Order: sequence, then structure tokens, then C-alpha cells
Amino acid sequence: MERANLKISVGHLYPKQLNLYGDMGNIITLKKRCEWRSIEFDYKEINLEDVIPACDLYFIGGGQDKEQIDVSKAMYCQKDFLLEQRDEGTVFLGICGGYQLFGHYYQPFEGEKLLGVSLLDAYTVAGKKRFIGNVTAESDFLVPNTLVGFENHSGLTYLQNDTKPLAFVTVGNGNNGNDKSEGARYKNVFGTYLHGSLLPKNPHLADYLISLALEKKYQNRFELKKLNDEIEFSAHNSVVSKAY
Ligand code: GLN
Repeated sequence: MERANLKISVGHLYPKQLNLYGDMGNIITLKKRCEWRSIEFDYKEINLEDVIPACDLYFIGGGQDKEQIDVSKAMYCQKDFLLEQRDEGTVFLGICGGYQLFGHYYQPFEGEKLLGVSLLDAYTVAGKKRFIGNVTAESDFLVPNTLVGFENHSGLTYLQNDTKPLAFVTVGNGNNGNDKSEGARYKNVFGTYLHGSLLPKNPHLADYLISLALEKKYQNRFELKKLNDEIEFSAHNSVVSKAY
């Protein structure tokens, strides 16, 4: 269904602290893929001192343990609001360090446990080994079913109950290097360890998230106009199954 004057509001959570390995590229991709379809993209930067505004989609990037400390404090005191947003169908995408704080907690190697906002029924503990390398993973809801990116984390994430993997790794370590799971999904909350940034090389996931945000906002399903993704999928395919 085509419709004029569509708009989505996108809240970028703590880009000054969590924006590692070009994670801003995810915002740029969402913005461009909306603009190419004349969907207004209302971008809101959300900083540590801000009250988080209601949005249709939230994005949070990755970062080092020390940046996660401040973000954990700023986000945790707004946990109830974020849980309400989740339960209303708002879309969330968290990458790596931001993903870890979408769970119940992240226990770094040293220091205090960082409290998460429990959007995902998951927890993370620091491992002894840092996972660094290219990742290919297979999903069961995307066409093509592959997701590609690269990982750089020591945190080991474990999913529980109704929080399911986003995909399963065929190359790389994913959540914990043990159960082959990569990332997580519960309702419209998505988390992943895939930097890269993720969305420029995975345009099918970008469109999936945009569609969910429109559906939540307008309570209607929209068929997004097809874009020429030749370059995007050429980049995607160049990474598929690339050696770790
Ligand atoms: N500091 C976290 C870890 O090392 C997240 C790293 C990241 O965001 N790339 O696991």
C-alpha cells in the first residue's frame, strides 16, 4: 500500500558515547532508504541528560565498557518508559554494547555489573577472549536469509525464554561462540553483534525495520517501493562466508 506523507521518528540513543566502528552508518541508511521513498525521517539525538522522547524506532550503537557505564545509568532510570514503548510495538535496534544494555545486565571483566533495561530476556558476561572478525549468519525471516558484518566484543550474551536469536552464525562467533546464536529478537526489539555498519550491507534488514516502524505508527502494513540495491548486495555478497 502506497501512501503520501508517511513519516517515522527515529531516536538515536547516546551517539556521543556509543558509536563505534561507524555505527552511525545505520542511521544514514535508514534515513536514505526513507528519503528515497519520500518517507519523512524525523531524527532525534538523545543524550545522557535527556528525557527519552516517544519515537517509532530507536537505535543504539556499540562502545567500550567505560562508555557503557554512563549509558547504563542514563537508560536504566527510564527503563519503565522503554518497556512501555517495546510493548506498544516500537522498533529497537541495538548494536553490540548497546545490544548488551537491552538485556538485564552486562558484567564487565572488572568493576560493577551494568544494569540493562530488560527489553530482551538476555544477559551478558565478559569472556576471556575477544571475538574479532567477519561474521555471516542465517536468519529465518529475511530474503536473502544471510546477514553479514563484523564482530569485536568480549561480552558473551545468553538468551532466555521468548527472546530468540536474530540469526545463526555460519562464520564467526555471534552471541557467545558456543551456541551459534547471533543477536536477538523479542517483539520488535532487535539486537546484534554485527558492526560494519550493519544496515548498509544488509538493506533487506533496513527495509524490514522501516516497515515495522510504519506498521506500528499507522497500524497498517505498507509495501515499500523496491529500490535498486545492486551495490548494497554486491557489498553484502562480497562478505558472505568471508573467512574469519
Ligand atoms: N564493551 C563491550 C564488549 O567488549 C561491547 C563492545 C562493542 O560495542 N563493540 O563486549
